[in-house]
Amino acid sequence: MHRTKVRVVEDVLDANNTIARANREDFDRHGVRVVNLMSAPGAGKTSLLERALAGSLDGVRVGVLEGDVQGSFDADRLAGLHIPVTQLNTDPGFGGECHLDANMVRSALPALPLEELDLLVIENVGNLVCPAEFRVGEDVRAMVCSVAEGEDKPLKYPLMFRSAELVVINKIDLLAHLDFDLDKFLYHLDQVNPGVERLLVSARSGEGVEAWRQWLLGVAMWAEAHA
Ligand code: MG
Ligand code: ZN
Repeated sequence: MHRTKVRVVEDVLDANNTIARANREDFDRHGVRVVNLMSAPGAGKTSLLERALAGSLDGVRVGVLEGDVQGSFDADRLAGLHIPVTQLNTDPGFGGECHLDANMVRSALPALPLEELDLLVIENVGNLVCPAEFRVGEDVRAMVCSVAEGEDKPLKYPLMFRSAELVVINKIDLLAHLDFDLDKFLYHLDQVNPGVERLLVSARSGEGVEAWRQWLLGVAMWAEAHA
């Protein structure tokens, strides 16, 4: 019985990967590079996007696909940036899922102006568990972890930390007020994803935001080099 259960999960993930490949082909055909941005709720994904995209991104045309269970609070915040923002809610229609999967993103493709974009950031539903299991057609994965979450998180959610190409450590302006041990966090991070690129930032103070912006720019530039 146990083996049967495992098999069902594998089939679901196989089906997801097939749709994710189809999404990626569509993105590639339009020359759009895609970042899957993940974190726990409240780590600062939207704030970091607001900060990085507030000015022009050196002519790179950016759009955001905003994943949430309900509502459009984050999309409304980003609307002020005057870039294409598309809201994707997992409730209704997808049972209020706590992650985005390839099929949900596929359903949003007709609403995305792909021909007008060089870079698409998909802000996933805030959750450190299942988003890491579902490819959605992205080129790269970035995750945000705030220092308010504690230095044990890489060990508690290893799949998330292992599957990211970039780890953004946010809210460093709070370090002086917390017991968070940054060295210990980085040690744990290297245990699950040795040498992974990491940025220390504060969306609040702006510290490190330029490096984050440059990273996004680099993903988009990679598109031009390969177009
Ligand atoms: Mg958000
Ligand atoms: Zn989920």
